[in-house]
Amino acid sequence: MSAVLAVHGGAGVRAEAARDPALRKAIHAGLATALRAGHAVLAARGPALEAMVAAVCALEDDPLFNAGRGSVLTIDGKPEMDAAVMRGTDRAAGAVANICGPRNPVRVARAVLDAPPVMLVGEGALRFARGAGVPFEPESYFVTESRRAALAREVERRRLGLPDNRDDYSKHGTVGAVARDATGGLAAATSTGGLTGKIPGRVGDCPVFGAGTWADDMVAVSCTGDGEVFIRHAAAHELSARLRYAGATLVDAAEAMAMELAKARGSGGLIAVCRDDDPVLPFNSAGMYRGIIGTDGVPRVAIHREALAAVG
Ligand code: ASP
Repeated sequence: MSAVLAVHGGAGVRAEAARDPALRKAIHAGLATALRAGHAVLAARGPALEAMVAAVCALEDDPLFNAGRGSVLTIDGKPEMDAAVMRGTDRAAGAVANICGPRNPVRVARAVLDAPPVMLVGEGALRFARGAGVPFEPESYFVTESRRAALAREVERRRLGLPDNRDDYSKHGTVGAVARDATGGLAAATSTGGLTGKIPGRVGDCPVFGAGTWADDMVAVSCTGDGEVFIRHAAAHELSARLRYAGATLVDAAEAMAMELAKARGSGGLIAVCRDDDPVLPFNSAGMYRGIIGTDGVPRVAIHREALAAVG
């Protein structure tokens, strides 16, 4: 069984990345850093769960992605973050929603996985995070100028009653990882700031197990896109069900899910890994920041429809 890890940086890709080599390079570098962080754990024969947490922390720390630092803002101008982790071998799961404070929401989700509850929200989640000893940051750490500007444009659009023709980057984004370790254990993690201009208290698909995040003994899945549609379609679990009950292959089931979500007006994509095949990374949007790293330790990444390419 070969260890492998895939990441996504969300389907909210910047259209300019196609024309701006410096931006493209920065996105590739961010994905490669995350892939290497996860690979370091797998190469030391560490478990899939810890590899993914390492990868997602790197993406949360990078303000280019909508999770942790650089999260999008609610209509009140505040970041509210959701995160989830799930281990396939025993279906241990941990999620947090609606938090701002812990530097890496995924670390709090990881700590919840070892606690009796599966999901904690708001003030209770923050109290738990303090008890777990994870590092905290002031609100200003998470808020970037580009997310403030995106919110200001959205507020103006709503004021003028204009149609919503923003690009995906201005609307949403997410980060996630799926991994298979040397023992064949699978795990999935997802972390997000959600949607620009969301109403306070809104929770997307990311921390909802079976919707945006899922792992069992057959497959691990992390999704990105219009969260409400992914929740209504139980997207991540639906993919697992097609493998388990319909005998579908991973690639066929994942591609079909991406197309069905598009028909339901769910723009986005997913990454998934199973016990025997290479990870799959389908999407129905203009692009999805994504990458894979295998036993050779070479990160391979892509943004739009191009094939994955090695980062030196
Ligand atoms: N799925 C996320 C949410 O709805 C957003 C995204 O992935 O772009 O919160």
